[in-house]
Amino acid sequence: MSDVAFITKSQAEPPFFVGVDLGGTNIKVGLVDDRGRPLVKRSLPTDVPRGPQDAAERMGKAVLEVIAETGLAVGDVAHVGLGSPGTMDVPAGMLLEPPNLRGWENFPIRDRVSQHCGLPVAFANDANAAAYGEFWVGSGRAFHSMVLLTLGTGVGGGIIIGDHSVDGEHSHGSECGHIIIDHHDDARMCNCGHTGHLEAYASATAVVKRAHDLLDARRDTSVHRRLERGDELTTLLLAEEATAGDAFAMELILEAAMYLGVGVASLMHTVDPDGVVLGGAMTYGGHDSPVGRKFLERVREEVRRRTFPVLRERTIVDFASLGSDAGYIGAAGIGRLAYRKRLEVRG
Ligand SMILES: [Zn+2]
Repeated sequence: MSDVAFITKSQAEPPFFVGVDLGGTNIKVGLVDDRGRPLVKRSLPTDVPRGPQDAAERMGKAVLEVIAETGLAVGDVAHVGLGSPGTMDVPAGMLLEPPNLRGWENFPIRDRVSQHCGLPVAFANDANAAAYGEFWVGSGRAFHSMVLLTLGTGVGGGIIIGDHSVDGEHSHGSECGHIIIDHHDDARMCNCGHTGHLEAYASATAVVKRAHDLLDARRDTSVHRRLERGDELTTLLLAEEATAGDAFAMELILEAAMYLGVGVASLMHTVDPDGVVLGGAMTYGGHDSPVGRKFLERVREEVRRRTFPVLRERTIVDFASLGSDAGYIGAAGIGRLAYRKRLEVRG
């Protein structure tokens, strides 16, 4: 689900930027022009057990390979951007203790990738990079400020104000998945070990857990038949059953949407952005699917119930449009910001 169109070298506007989106499973590397339009991308396995040294070398090599594949010279690329899962120290370019990259603790990843490709590298949290991608060329391209929530295994967040990504003083800014939506002692447990966080209610993990918890009491759902056939209970399975008319699956999806709306209302009162954009795998096919449209309408309904009138009327709540291309495009965009800042400093 991505609206991204690739362009050719002759259509492109220099200078060029390369974005690297480091994930727990795959690394995406793409080259974009000065307007954020991609020319080429590739994906390589992260291969976490091989360690960060090896990955930094492969990322550096992949940066050079996408440049060569486009027919450009290394000198045509002004900057590289690297988006990575945390925890991290953004100004220092360091990975600290990333739970999705075990064994990569306290590694100076930004500078190592830079050494291996011979280009300057800017560093960002992966969710903030994806938010910048949507802000630069995606659903938020008409916005001055934006909040992105990525709904997947967890709930990632990114807040962009002007051209500024809110990283915070300790590289923990924009952790929107961990805002508190239930303070009671029996609130649900989040992946981070605390209770009551948005991620514990609106992530794929949370929805699947909720389905398992309620399934015994609901004999009337077609989900049982799928599980008896040996299918794994996932949000995709729930979306399929909801599409086929299963009430239980639809209830679970709309319940997560309701909680998401509660979180979005808090973020709107905190940031007052032009828009809140929802991305990630758990958007149920977006505008193209009836379940996606119902999901979004339920989020909007909850937001309308809980926000000040001016916010309710003016703030746009919609799906993201770059799909899994948001990460590397946004990382390239953050590289572009670093490049432009350097030009300003030089005067
Ligand atoms: Zn949490």
